[in-house]
Amino acid sequence: MSEPLASVGDPVRLSIPELRELVETALLQAGANRANATAIAGTIVASERDGVRSHGLLRLQGFVHSIEIGWADGRAQPQIISEMPGLVVVDAQNGFAQTALAHIRSKLAGMARANGTAVLLTRNSHHFGALWPDIEDFAAEGFVALTCVNSKKRMAAWGGRRPVTGTNAMAFACPRPGHLPLVWDQSSSVMSQGDVLLAASKGQEVPLGVGCDANGEQTHSPSAILNGGALLPFGANKGASIAVMIEILAAALTGGPFAFEDRSPNQTVTTSKGGQFMLIIHPSHANSAFGERISELVAAILAAGAMRLPGDRRYQARRQALAEGVAIDVRTYQSLVRPINPNEDATAAHRDRPLS
Ligand code: NDP
Repeated sequence: MSEPLASVGDPVRLSIPELRELVETALLQAGANRANATAIAGTIVASERDGVRSHGLLRLQGFVHSIEIGWADGRAQPQIISEMPGLVVVDAQNGFAQTALAHIRSKLAGMARANGTAVLLTRNSHHFGALWPDIEDFAAEGFVALTCVNSKKRMAAWGGRRPVTGTNAMAFACPRPGHLPLVWDQSSSVMSQGDVLLAASKGQEVPLGVGCDANGEQTHSPSAILNGGALLPFGANKGASIAVMIEILAAALTGGPFAFEDRSPNQTVTTSKGGQFMLIIHPSHANSAFGERISELVAAILAAGAMRLPGDRRYQARRQALAEGVAIDVRTYQSLVRPINPNEDATAAHRDRPLS
């Protein structure tokens, strides 16, 4: 039996290189230079590939708009402003944290190899993406890595009813012998703003406890949370403590703005300007049996009934995307190709051809 024909509303399937080229082109057309476009496209495409849709193409418009209106500098060249054996401070020059990291990455790994640890403090930077793409590769190279970013004010702290901190994300990555790294990455809110935006765009409600409205009352409405309300920290006071710690590490220590000082022209569409903290540790300087200890720990966790490890869902989505490509809904795809091929029915052309 022959395969049913794809219909007009079917998603378009793109290979990873095809998607990366489209995203990079959109960023270049917005005014980014190649270094910035490559770094940002890398994080967007990795998220889309790994099924982290809240930080994939959904974020592209925010990056593009922020560059177009000059809120973020898509041509910025990060500058090292201070350097010690275990610490480097980088000014992203109002550009993107991902570009600053690409600029400093090999130096940071070299510092951690030589000294056991390396700390990167990035200031004057915009992030707006998922954090795991920043550190997974360090763990694949044998380092333990921890990073966090602050963002614009969206979340109440310690029982407050108005936003003061960002939904400050944190991620941890660790090598795991014989396996892909153990990586977790999460916001300090009950639900990330990306997921609240997704719920709003689909007309869905969110559970009580996710956020409050402008009067400080808990609400099911994502738009009430996004328009004048606040997200709430996970684990009540415990999540609030972590969010405040991140303001200290990613803003006070780096020299970047706190979330409540953010001057983003738009709460949801423009990137937030803050800072990023990153710690890289070379475990062999501390314990030559580190790898075996990680294997023992994971074995005990799985034996105790854990259904999966953090990162497993992403790795599964990644395997599938590498084999079959990434399915993009037609409207998103058309918004990507229209500026490039205004007269061509690129949707039909892409839908009907084999993956490259
Ligand atoms: P999630 O709650 O979706 O996931 C958090 C972590 O828990 C992931 O590592 C996930 O692994 C893991 N996990 C989920 N379910 C299980 C399970 N049953 N067993 C074991 N592990 C599990 O993350 P958030 O919604 O809080 O954050 C989403 C993204 O938002 C993050 O990538 C974060 O970096 C980003 N963010 C970025 C900000 C910025 O300013 N740049 C601000 C705030 C958030 P897996 O991925 O495999 O499911």
